[in-house]
Amino acid sequence: MKSDNNTLKSRRRLVLLATAALGAGLVPSLGRLAFADSDGDDDDNHYEESANTSFTLANTGLNAKIVVVGGGMAGATLAKYLRLWGGSGVAVTLVEPNASYTSNIMSNLVLSGSRSLSTLGYSYGSLAAKFGVTVKQAFVTGIDSTAKAVLLSDGTRLPYDRLVLAPGVEFMNAYGLTQSDYAGTTPHAWQAGPQTAELARQLAGMSNGTFVMTIPKAPYRCPPGPYERACIVADYLKTYRGAASKVIVLDENASIQAERETFTTAFGVTHAGVVQYEAGVTGIAIDPVTKVVSYLDAVGTPRTINAQVVNPIPPHRATGSSAGGWLAGAGLNNSADGRWCVVDVLSYESTAVPGIHVIGDAASCGLPKAGHVANQEAKICADAIVRLLAGQQPDPAPVANSACYSPITASTASWLTAVYQYDAVNRKMVVAANGGNPLGAAPTASATVSNKNYRNMSTWFNTLMGDSFA
Ligand SMILES: Cc1cc2nc3c(=O)[nH]c(=O)nc-3n(C[C@H](O)[C@H](O)[C@H](O)COP(=O)(O)OP(=O)(O)OC[C@H]3O[C@@H](n4cnc5c(N)ncnc54)[C@H](O)[C@@H]3O)c2cc1C
Repeated sequence: MKSDNNTLKSRRRLVLLATAALGAGLVPSLGRLAFADSDGDDDDNHYEESANTSFTLANTGLNAKIVVVGGGMAGATLAKYLRLWGGSGVAVTLVEPNASYTSNIMSNLVLSGSRSLSTLGYSYGSLAAKFGVTVKQAFVTGIDSTAKAVLLSDGTRLPYDRLVLAPGVEFMNAYGLTQSDYAGTTPHAWQAGPQTAELARQLAGMSNGTFVMTIPKAPYRCPPGPYERACIVADYLKTYRGAASKVIVLDENASIQAERETFTTAFGVTHAGVVQYEAGVTGIAIDPVTKVVSYLDAVGTPRTINAQVVNPIPPHRATGSSAGGWLAGAGLNNSADGRWCVVDVLSYESTAVPGIHVIGDAASCGLPKAGHVANQEAKICADAIVRLLAGQQPDPAPVANSACYSPITASTASWLTAVYQYDAVNRKMVVAANGGNPLGAAPTASATVSNKNYRNMSTWFNTLMGDSFA
C-alpha cells in the first residue's frame, strides 16, 4: 500500500511537471499563430506555422492507448493536448475519414464571396509531425465497448484503454426533404463543404427575389450562426441585387437564440425592409422542385412563400445516433430524445458507457454547440483523462471560455463572450458571475457593431484554429 502511494505520488509529480513545462513551451508557439501582414491587419487566411517548432514530449510515466474519433474542432484539440499533457507514453490515434478539415466557422462568408472555401482548410500534418498523433484516415463503423475496441471502415479493429468520440452532428430528414435534396437542390450548408459552394452558387444566381431560410428548435450548432447568415445574405442581396430583395427567416424557436438585441437591430434597422424575421413557426414544408415553402405562423395561420432559393437548416443529432447507427449501437445516445450523448462535465465521460468520453457538438452537457466551446471541452477532457490515468480524480472546478464574432455586414461584426464555471449543486457548467451579474447570467454581447470587431474576428479565428490544429 505504501509503495502504491509512492508510485502514485511520483506519477502525480511527473504529470504536474510535464504540464507545467509543456504549458510554458506552448506559449512562444501560439504567439506566432496569428500574424500581421504589411498593412498591420490580421491575415484573413491562415495561422503561420513555424517550420522548426516541435516538442520533445516528457516521459510522465503514463502509458495508455487512446483512440479519438473525429478530427474536427473537438477531436483535433483533444489529440494534441493529450500528447502534450499525457507525455510520450500516451499513444493517441485520431480516426478521421477526410484528409483535411474544413472549418464551419467563417463559412457563412463564403456565401457572399468574402472568403473562399480553400481558406478554411486545415491539415492534420502538424498534429502528426509536431505532436506524434497517429492519424488514421477511415471512419468508425462500430464500437465494442466490452472488448474495448473500435471497428473501422477498412476492417481494422483498434483497441483502446480510453475512447473519445468527437464526431460532430448529422442532419435529419425534415420539412419533406431527404439527404439527397440537401446534397442537391436544397442545401443546408450547415456543414462547410460542397453544400456551402452550392448555396453560394444559388445565391449568386438570384435576381431581385426571395431567399427563405429556416432555423430548427434549439439545441443546434452555433446559436448565433443562422442569424449571422441572414445578415450576410441580406447585405449581399441588397448590395448586388437591389433593395427589393427579401430574406425571410422562419425560426421554429420562440425568439432569437443569441445576441437578441444585436440581431433585432440588424434585422429591423441595418437590414430594414430586406430581412423579414418570423419566430415560433411550425409545420414547415418545402417543395425542393418548385421551391414553394408552406408553414403555420406563430398564431397558426397557414402561409405560403414562392422562394427563389431555399436554405433549410434541419434539426441535427450526434453523428451515428440514428436507429442502427454506430453510436446508437453502443448505447451512447442517452439523452431523453435519443439525439445526444449525456456526459459528466468534469470528465466528459459518458453517463451511459464508462471509459468512453464524448466532446463537441455530439455531447449534451449544457454548453452551447460551438467550435470555441468544443476546443475548451477538449482541454477539460484531456486534463481529466491524464489525471484518471495517473490515478487521480478530474479537476473538481473546471473553467471554460467562449468567444464568437458575427458579421452583420461585409465590413462590420458583433461579438459574444462568456466564461463558464462548474456549478457543483446542479452538476453543470454555467455562465460565471461577472461584473455584478450572478452565476448563470447571460453571456456578454458587444455594445456596438463595428469594423474593429470585424478585424478582431480574424485574430480570434486564426488563434483558435492554430490552437486546435497547429
Ligand atoms: C455556418 C456555421 C458557422 C459557425 N460559426 C461558429 C463561430 O463563429 N464560432 C464557433 O465557436 N462555432 C461556430 N460554428 C460551430 C462549429 O463549427 C461547431 O460547433 C464545431 O465544428 C463542433 O466541433 P466538433 O469537433 O464537435 O464537430 P466537427 O467540427 O463537425 O468535427 C466532427 C468530425 O468528426 C468526423 N466524423 C464524423 N463521423 C465520423 C466517423 N464515423 N468516424 C470518424 N470520424 C467521423 C467528421 O469528418 C469531422 O471531421 C459554426 C457552424 C456553422 C455551421
